[in-house]
Amino acid sequence: MSTFITPQDLAEWHRRDLAVLWHPCTQMREHPNSLPLIPIRRGRGAWLEGVDGTRYLDAISSWWTNLFGHAEPRIAEAVASQARELEHVIFAGFSHEPGLRLAESLLAVAPRQTGRAPLARVFYADNGSAAIEVALKMSFHSHRNRGDERRTRFVALSNSYHGETLGALSMGDIPLYRRTYAPLLLQPLFAPSPDAFTAEPGESAEACALRRADALADIFAAHPGEISALILEPLVQCAGGMRMHHPAYLQRARAICDAHGAHLIADEIAVGFGRTGTLFACEQAAIAPDFLCLSKGLTGGFMPLSAVLTTEHVYEAFLDDSRERAFLHSHSYSGNPLACAAAVASLAIFDEDDVLVRNRGIAARMTALAAPLANHPNVAEVRQTGMILAIETRAASGGNGTAVEIAGGMGLRAYRHAIARGVLLRPLGDVLYWMPPYCVGEEELRLLADVTATALTEAFT
Ligand SMILES: *Cc1c(COP(=O)(O)O)cnc(C)c1O
Repeated sequence: MSTFITPQDLAEWHRRDLAVLWHPCTQMREHPNSLPLIPIRRGRGAWLEGVDGTRYLDAISSWWTNLFGHAEPRIAEAVASQARELEHVIFAGFSHEPGLRLAESLLAVAPRQTGRAPLARVFYADNGSAAIEVALKMSFHSHRNRGDERRTRFVALSNSYHGETLGALSMGDIPLYRRTYAPLLLQPLFAPSPDAFTAEPGESAEACALRRADALADIFAAHPGEISALILEPLVQCAGGMRMHHPAYLQRARAICDAHGAHLIADEIAVGFGRTGTLFACEQAAIAPDFLCLSKGLTGGFMPLSAVLTTEHVYEAFLDDSRERAFLHSHSYSGNPLACAAAVASLAIFDEDDVLVRNRGIAARMTALAAPLANHPNVAEVRQTGMILAIETRAASGGNGTAVEIAGGMGLRAYRHAIARGVLLRPLGDVLYWMPPYCVGEEELRLLADVTATALTEAFT
């Protein structure tokens, strides 16, 4: 006997849903005709199961949040047992075990740089955008507390994405997200992205990175004493179309910030927790930032939570007898114990299952399975950093700044093609990508490669 709902009930679900809900990142007009709405009733491993019993391989880790598969039993148990003890408590003036343990665990594994004081403080917020707001405010405020009130500018990279609250959106450069709200936004100085896909013909990724670092240095030189921080996504600009760059850029960026007394904010909200092959992307450049922003995979994909790690030097700038010099930023759910318990359990799995080592094997299989796609007539490039593999297509909408999810055309056709074959792909503009949960197996990777190959043909016809 099946407990799945019937087609009539599914239609009724669609009616109810579209009568009251407003889904994110969606032109609601496209539902239900050109874009199917897919109610999910459970998740297991790399698979999602619809209320009608249809299964979907979650090749994008549910917006890059999931690490070890859906309903991972150890994380589920940690959340359940925490919920029976303490679901939430105000985090101002109060503390709790999961919040403390998570901070200690994060600091123990945070990126380190020889000769630099380590990240030593953890501030919690409840989503990625909020973490960006925290880092921007902390950077500005710490300079100000040290008597430096001129540092009011931020530098961000072209093609970047840092979230969608107004401050975070200000730092982003994806036109479709930014343009509408432009009159409301802060005005960062945009430096050219080190994106290796935009290298000159014959130029290596490293040479491209260093050339763009020179442009970054010029921007700093033109604004002496005005820049509070540089914010960037280390190694992969994910929402910008999984554009990748050489770690040499990060080393130069770190040195430029130091030379100008500015902070470096590393937004590892998407690339953290093993996505790039190392636990954090900064490790591949052997640098440590002044602010490390974490979210998405932080809880293994279970709960909304974000953390901003910073240095004792920044922290000390806020110690004073005056309230105004304190960092008064707060969110009601700051340091939520359920989310912290999920994050503690998730971090432990990296050791328990030797995840980074095992992932090297998975990443190698992704490389091998995607290799034939490079010869496909509709493919311009296949690129990979660790567990992120991207296929740049030759779709006509192309170019920088169009990397918006299933925006229409090729992306929408590829999405629908894959969904009909039980695979969840959400192309970013002209870019198809794989960012699977780390529990993905050989069969699943083969299915993903097959469906991607046929999508590449059919989405162009
Ligand atoms: C997703 C993302 C954010 C925003 O996180 P939200 O939790 O969606 O607000 C910020 N920066 C990067 C790099 C991201 O990928």
